[in-house]
Amino acid sequence: MTVEASPKSAHATRRERRRPAIGFVSLGCAKALVDSERIITRLRAEGYAIAASYAEADLVVVNTCGFLLSARAESLEAIGEALAENGKVVVTGCLGAEPERIRAAFPEVLAITGPHQYEAVLAAIHAQLPPPHAPYLELVPPQGVRLTPRHYAYLKIAEGCDNRCSFCIIPKLRGGLVSRPLPEILAEAEALVAAGARELVVIAQDTAAYGRDVRYPPASWRGRSVRTRLFDLCEELGRLGVWIRLLYLYPYPQLDRIVELMAEGKILPYLDVPFQHASPAILKAMRRPASTERMIERIRLWRRVCPELAIRSTFIVGFPGETEEDFAQLLAFLEEARLDRVGCFVYEPVDGAAANALPDGVPEEVAEDRRARLMALQERISAEKLRARVGRIETVLIDGQDEAGRTVGRSRFEAPGVDGVVFVESSEPLAPGTVLEVEITAADVHDLYARPIARP
Ligand code: SF4
Repeated sequence: MTVEASPKSAHATRRERRRPAIGFVSLGCAKALVDSERIITRLRAEGYAIAASYAEADLVVVNTCGFLLSARAESLEAIGEALAENGKVVVTGCLGAEPERIRAAFPEVLAITGPHQYEAVLAAIHAQLPPPHAPYLELVPPQGVRLTPRHYAYLKIAEGCDNRCSFCIIPKLRGGLVSRPLPEILAEAEALVAAGARELVVIAQDTAAYGRDVRYPPASWRGRSVRTRLFDLCEELGRLGVWIRLLYLYPYPQLDRIVELMAEGKILPYLDVPFQHASPAILKAMRRPASTERMIERIRLWRRVCPELAIRSTFIVGFPGETEEDFAQLLAFLEEARLDRVGCFVYEPVDGAAANALPDGVPEEVAEDRRARLMALQERISAEKLRARVGRIETVLIDGQDEAGRTVGRSRFEAPGVDGVVFVESSEPLAPGTVLEVEITAADVHDLYARPIARP
């Protein structure tokens, strides 16, 4: 994904046009997007303009992703394009943790920094383009500069991860878990809501581990003592009166209490738990919690506590050593778990991952075939689950119009960017951020169709 931010370039004042302008290309996941937002916020605070195109930029920052081989290739391609189109390029992000790889391909890159090294990125920019002398000319909005639309925002609560999943190099790239102070997160959340956000999407590499690195200390917030842990953070966020959605929850037992908050309506009844597999042998090789029965029990418990809960998960097929029997266990798990949304990836041997040393690699065509079979099964389940929602009244948050001019929204059960959508009948365009009640009239494999009832 490429995002170029241009908060006001089209109507830049003459004064602003004389300011050094930075172009920004942001690749990768929501976590990288938040890094980009922070860097852009600092640049705006220092008085730089943000350019909408390569031609308008005095320098281009490329925030790279280094998770999968395909993401690395995309990142290298983006660096090459920025060099060809502009010539002055600073590289940051996950792929920046391997500077020799970038230098080998593009020796002319001005500077390379790793993930969340905000100060180093700014220092590299200052070295090339000194900051303008009048940072007060334009105040940065208090919520910072965001790359997401105004009506929803990502809220990053921690960096890094203490787990050691064998297929993943994120802990090597980003280091161990570092939780942000609770008052800082809540102040940012309040500012985002004051700026118009109707939905906050809480993210981290390992969201459910929030606070563990600092041993869950109490913090003072609005005269109350609040523990630095996910449960308490969610309770506080739940007071803001907007949708609170949690992503990337490792399947820890403490999720049970988070589901209770969902049942109480304090946060959205939406659980994104990447299970990754269901065969105990493969989960063990992945260094993940390895009891499938317990996972099924847990899912049953969650649904008992919160019957309307939507569960999203992702899986990896073709992991080294995965036999047809392991894969059959995964399909049986999906049949039983009846998850609402599922993503499936074919295993990729990421450079530096421990799993690369495992024997019995699965041929690519076998892995691709398994992925197709898994998705075919899940499509049937997903279509059945969506069909069961026809006739229901649901609240929808409008995201805008698609290329075909259809009005697109999401209910509490669809996360932005990763799930299906709700197409809403509308004779006139509805503004992004509009909240309305709809009746679901039809469903297909991924999406729902609805007509408005009333605006609450
Ligand atoms: S929990 Fe996620 S980020 Fe952490 S090691 Fe596992 S896959 Fe990587």
